[in-house]
Parts: sequence; C-alpha cells; structure tokens
Amino acid sequence: MSIRTLLLLILALPALIVGGAMALEVKIPVPQWGRDYVLSFMVNQEAPEFVLPEVLGPDDPERPLVVIDAGHGGRDPGSVSGDVREKDIVLAIALALRDELLESGGIRVALTRDEDRIVPLADRPEVARQLEADLFLSIHADSAGEREDISGASIYMLSSEASSEAAARFAARENNADRVNGLRIEGQSEQVSAILVELSQARTQEDAAEFASLITREGDGKLLFHPSARRSAALAVLRAPDVPSVLFESGFVTNDGDRDRLTTPEGRQQYAEVLAQAIRVYFARRSET
Ligand code: ZN
Repeated sequence: MSIRTLLLLILALPALIVGGAMALEVKIPVPQWGRDYVLSFMVNQEAPEFVLPEVLGPDDPERPLVVIDAGHGGRDPGSVSGDVREKDIVLAIALALRDELLESGGIRVALTRDEDRIVPLADRPEVARQLEADLFLSIHADSAGEREDISGASIYMLSSEASSEAAARFAARENNADRVNGLRIEGQSEQVSAILVELSQARTQEDAAEFASLITREGDGKLLFHPSARRSAALAVLRAPDVPSVLFESGFVTNDGDRDRLTTPEGRQQYAEVLAQAIRVYFARRSET
C-alpha cells in the first residue's frame, strides 16, 4: 500500500465510521433507563421537541387527570415478534383506554403520544408533572425471546432503592424553585428539601402500589397475569416524584395467546375496560377522603 493510499484511508476513516453508523444504526442497551431501552445513534436526527399534549375530557381542573403513556414509538418499535410491534400494540391499547375513560366521563385524560412518533423517555413523566396529573400509566408489551411459553401481564412500580435515589437526584436538581405535592421547597436547606421530597415520594409510592393492586383486582378473571404480576424495578419512566406512576406490561408478543389478545379489537377492549375500571376506582377512593 502506498503512503498516498494510506493517507487517503486515514482521511476517509471518520466518514466511513459515520457512514457505517448511519447504515447500522448503532444500538447500546441502557437498562438503567428502563428495561427495554436502547440508545441508538442516528446521524442527522433532530431531537423531537417537547410537546405538552391536550387534556381531554371535562373542562374542569378539579377533575382527576390521568396521563396515559404508550411506550416506544417512531423509530423505536419496542419488542418485536414477526410483524407484531410493541409500539403499535400499546398505542392501540392506550387509545382504547382513552375512549373508554372519556365515554364514562368524569376523568380527564392526556396521552404522551396518540400517533406513531418518538417521545424521549425523560419527556414522558415530565408531561405528567407539568400537567399536574394525578396518575401516570405507562403501557408496554414484553418479549421473552425464545421462551414462547412465557405469558401474562405484569405491573411494575419504581423500586424503593431507585425511588429514594431518584428523590435525592430530584431534590438536588430542583432545589431552588419547585413544588412537590404542594410542598414548596424553595428556599429550604438542601437537607430539609431532601426530606420533604422523600416523604412526598413515599406517599406517591403508596398510591402507585394501591393502583397496581387495583389493576390485578379488576383484571382478575378478565386478563391473564404473569405468576409474579407485581414487581418493582428502577424504571426511568416512573421517576416523577409527585405523580403515582405504574408501568403495565400487557403481555408477551412472543406468546401466541398473548399476541392474540394484544392484536385483536376484542382483546384490546378487555385491557381498556380493566384499566379504565382500575383508574375509576382509584380516583373514586381519593374523592371520598
Ligand atoms: Zn416496552
């Protein structure tokens, strides 16, 4: 190889690497952001703008507000099995749940996405926070790879370890001017703020746990649950410290039975009815106290 060819190669290397990344779409798993999130490098890709969605339902701020978050979207399909993509399934369930709630009335609803588009992970709980939502429900579907026998829905909450770590980080970040469950932490010392956020988050976690158990209660005999249906994990999407947040894994795209339930209108309606009923009972209990 001549020196000239070598020089050319060296000069062309960055372009080759960029070109390679473009063609390959480099993906790095980042489980600390969420169970099935990957960091994917795309060239010339603009970060989508933060959009605060429209609040649907009664035009009354006193009415409870649930933010429904259909996982993934756009370039991120989530779990895939054959031509079944998680991003489509969960959007369809989210839309059916929205319709179900609006039909029965009394509850305000907002969706982090109502179409096939990318919503950055950090924006999802932020929508709930900025709208001062009372409940956040993220809907996903799972994949078990080769294990086609694994099936059933699960409900994830933020693990307590992750929750206090999130609380600490939240306190550090938002120390100067913010509000958590109506507690103003502005001007407080860092330690006092951390304690206030911790207390607020403990309450938030209790509420999330109550909502999770309502999903299993209302879904009993109507949905198929995984044997250990209630779990906790360090999920970034559940980290709003002042909005009770739950992630519902509706089922496995890799299981025939689950896939049928997830892809048919009847199956989706069943999910929507169970989740809507759990949401109604959750808010009804709150209005009594
Ligand atoms: Zn997912």
